[in-house]
Amino acid sequence: MPLGSARSALEPPMTEPHSEAEPGGPETSPVARLDLFGLDRTGLARVAGELGEPAYRGAQLYAWLYRKRARRFEDMTNLAKALRQRLAARYRLRWPSLAERRVSSDGTVKYLLRLEDGATVESVYIPEERRRTICLSTQAGCPLKCAFCLTGVGGYKRNLTVGEILGQVAAVMDDAPPQRLPWNVVMMGMGEPLLNYEATAGALRILMDPEGFAVAPKKLTLSTVGILPALAKLMQEPVRPNLAISLHAPNAALRRELMPIEARYPLEAVIAAAQRYALPRGGRVTYEYVLLRGVNDSVAHARELARLLSGSRCKVNLIPLNPAPELPFAPPTPEAVDAFCAVLADSQLTVSVRRPRGRDILAACGQLQLKRAAAPPALAPATP
Ligand code: SAH
Repeated sequence: MPLGSARSALEPPMTEPHSEAEPGGPETSPVARLDLFGLDRTGLARVAGELGEPAYRGAQLYAWLYRKRARRFEDMTNLAKALRQRLAARYRLRWPSLAERRVSSDGTVKYLLRLEDGATVESVYIPEERRRTICLSTQAGCPLKCAFCLTGVGGYKRNLTVGEILGQVAAVMDDAPPQRLPWNVVMMGMGEPLLNYEATAGALRILMDPEGFAVAPKKLTLSTVGILPALAKLMQEPVRPNLAISLHAPNAALRRELMPIEARYPLEAVIAAAQRYALPRGGRVTYEYVLLRGVNDSVAHARELARLLSGSRCKVNLIPLNPAPELPFAPPTPEAVDAFCAVLADSQLTVSVRRPRGRDILAACGQLQLKRAAAPPALAPATP
């Protein structure tokens, strides 16, 4: 699609989390009570001040919200009962509510979560042998309209707030079986995280904070098409997650057909910026490449990709298309995947092939939401 028509949506107005709230009114209705979930240390210290409490109460609230993930003020047992009651009268803690939950035969769980204004986003829980992964959304819908991605088909609604991004993590962690496996978090769900920079960066800081969700930076990955001004800002963050770049084509002409954003942020410039990004513990940038049968999956494409990335310290993740009736592409044959992979490996590139997970529950991003818009859900909504 022409980029011109997507332009205004590419830089949507920033939603200012909680700006509509009325600080201070003890008589506020439940709808107008300020939501504390999503506030950072500074915001919570301010709340403590508004209540006439010392600043360290803010730090206590922070730990209850993100490290212990309390759902109610009354559970915050190191705060005096009277303070808990005052908090409950003036503020609230909101996580997204569950609209639908599907469990795959491979253990993957897909959540459709409803936000306060009715918008829905998808999050996924992916259990593995030695770790478990949460896949998060950063926008409701997506304005980028990549040709192979269902989220784009569903259209763009809005940016998520810090609380809405973190609320997905809290909801999925809360629902997961109690295991002592480390958490991985990937921002690879709906939306483009770098088109929602402030909320994404705010959520990342709380996720990586040892006093917050305490997810190690090397276990967090942000996936992006490469919005260059925002990528430059992310590079300046004192603590940064891993970086995955959605490449999907070995040259500008083909990438532009698949990803309209190529017209604005060309792949050569995106790769150059990604190679300057300092990763946690000397890790490597991942280049994601969705394989589409007969479109970008030939041995010639693989050779071109190998040339493009030669000399770059990186990993390539090949992703066989997750097909859907709404998409005009087919997945590659297993032989094409093997041949593509072999060319990259022969060129000394580190390459992996993503195993499809949760196909039976529509775990590809955007699938569940589209299905729901088209037909009544096959499963009854469950509660967490
Ligand atoms: N906007 C960001 C993050 C969301 S997409 C980005 O583009 O990186 C996360 C990953 O899912 C991307 O690599 C994307 O290309 C991939 N993806 C999207 N649709 C897919 C599909 N139908 N099959 C397989 N992978 C898909």
